[in-house]
Amino acid sequence: MTEPLVSVDGIRKSFGDNDVLKDISFTVGAGTVTVVIGPSGSGKTTVLRTLNALDTADAGVITIGDVSVDFGNKVSKQELARFRAQSGMVFQGHNLFPHKTVLQNVIEGPVIVQKRPKAEAIADAEKLLEQVGLAEKADQYPYQLSGGQQQRVGIARALALKPKLMLFDEPTSALDPELVGEVLRVIKDLASQGWTMVVVTHEIRFAQQVADQVLFIEDGVVLESGPPSQVLAQPTQARTRQFLQRIL
Ligand code: ADP
Repeated sequence: MTEPLVSVDGIRKSFGDNDVLKDISFTVGAGTVTVVIGPSGSGKTTVLRTLNALDTADAGVITIGDVSVDFGNKVSKQELARFRAQSGMVFQGHNLFPHKTVLQNVIEGPVIVQKRPKAEAIADAEKLLEQVGLAEKADQYPYQLSGGQQQRVGIARALALKPKLMLFDEPTSALDPELVGEVLRVIKDLASQGWTMVVVTHEIRFAQQVADQVLFIEDGVVLESGPPSQVLAQPTQARTRQFLQRIL
């Protein structure tokens, strides 16, 4: 594996008396793609949300690039904000601002949150929209786009903040089947450009083609991890085999 960009060590998270993450540890090499699979309710989304500090872990240490946070200690707001800025998240649904154009959606974060000059943010956004194949849609509103196009705007919007790590939470699960391919193509493109990514998905073919590492999470623990040729093709755990048989 390349030098790790991300290191997750002993993460725990409970909601009330529901222990959702029970000691999750893994690393993500710089420039590699990790695909997270596992049954519904096993904690996959919560793992992503703790990486982006949308949920704060109860214990454990997460390092992304040169920012390391020990969630067992009290974490200041500034520390959490700096940590959160290391990663960008793409959600199941697109969450675009409905009253803003595509371009306005993409520049919102850089201009409002990062206080970058608007002209620079626009120039960047135009490049990103070209990259996701939507240059000609810059002045349209979300409702004028298909679900797949909206999701690609969501990807451009996350990229615009220039995160070190991109997180995708079932980015195609809300899409009609014929729109899945265009979104997966954009994510594959990012992989070939060397983006470091963690992707929660049930798209096993995509995982086979793109993942450097697959994590099988069940009941709040990483039950099995390794390259797709191992975890997907020759899983060592019976639970992994059963899961794959159910979804394939
Ligand atoms: P997955 O992504 O694998 O389907 P999740 O991480 O979404 O699993 O959820 C794991 C468990 O955590 C589920 O039992 C879910 O109900 C619970 N959970 C997730 N978020 C919250 C929350 N904000 N409050 C209470 N329970 C939650």
